[in-house]
Amino acid sequence: MIIILKNNPDKDQLENLEYWLSGMGIKVHPTVGTGKTILGLVGDTSRLDIDLISALDIVEDVKRVQEPFKNANRKFHPEDTVIDIGGVRIGGGTLTIIAGPCSVESEEQVVGIAKSVKESGATILRGGAFKPRSSPYSFQGLGIEGIRILLAAKEATGLPVVSEIMDASQLPLFADIDILQVGARNMQNFSLLKALGKQDKPVLLKRGLSSTYEEWLMSAEYVLAGGNDKVILCERGIRTFETYTRNTLDVSCVPVLRQMTHLPVIIDPSHACGRYQWVPALANAGIAAGADGVLIEVHNDPQHAKCDGPQSLTPDRFAQAVPELKAIHDIVRGGKHN
Ligand code: PEP
Ligand code: MN
Repeated sequence: MIIILKNNPDKDQLENLEYWLSGMGIKVHPTVGTGKTILGLVGDTSRLDIDLISALDIVEDVKRVQEPFKNANRKFHPEDTVIDIGGVRIGGGTLTIIAGPCSVESEEQVVGIAKSVKESGATILRGGAFKPRSSPYSFQGLGIEGIRILLAAKEATGLPVVSEIMDASQLPLFADIDILQVGARNMQNFSLLKALGKQDKPVLLKRGLSSTYEEWLMSAEYVLAGGNDKVILCERGIRTFETYTRNTLDVSCVPVLRQMTHLPVIIDPSHACGRYQWVPALANAGIAAGADGVLIEVHNDPQHAKCDGPQSLTPDRFAQAVPELKAIHDIVRGGKHN
């Protein structure tokens, strides 16, 4: 349920209302917008009398929210969520460009890639230290050493870093990582999501391989319900009958999610198509549809990459792709860059 307040509500009356609601076991999430203040109510609202609340002096309107996702709902929080990582913003119309290798292979590799993608316009560095591989016999990542290397690249370039966390027990290892990625295969790992809700680093939540928008938002809801309001949604392609591409990029999710939720939405064209040749076009499509950014795999030597080489752009190809992305973003979102 949401309560829309009249402008400049009387402070005492508002406090009384909040006190009464919390006495009924309801959590109140106030959002002060430019125009209006909205109270988002989470809990069992079935016992609340809408007519009674509507009759209060300070209340303009009361609406029931049918969707099961409450905190993630745009109705609860009409303005875009903007996440700030040391001055680098994600959401709210700013273009976020995340780039880096699928997996961390060596310090020389990651620092080199980080420097060149930064030069070309990337605002955040990515790299997997712990890799969720389909086969237990494939390279599983450098682990703790990979984290150390990512932090060395952060130190060398000043770029914030995103890396995938596979289990809540790894949290201490990620103490200096800026954004925690939850991979597609872990989108419904509820114990991991609950643990990430209880800490305050932003969470980049990939869409599950065959998850609906509602399931995806309910996973975001786990993090938000725990008290962490910094979730970034990342579309990385879904399973369809098509086998020519690795997955199918669901561009539709961008305008739909921007209506359903206030959370930033970014596009990962690399895992979506699986081939570097198609990555720039899909990245452009995501930004044209209104996405807040892209996540692109970049490797200095894709042919010898330990993981996802065929879908990785070289630093040069990445440099060529960025100006087009920026030009499209300028048209669609009015040109806010980090
Ligand atoms: C990745 O980003 O390297 C990755 C493993 O992604 P996904 O979880 O989308 O497959
Ligand atoms: Mn990858």
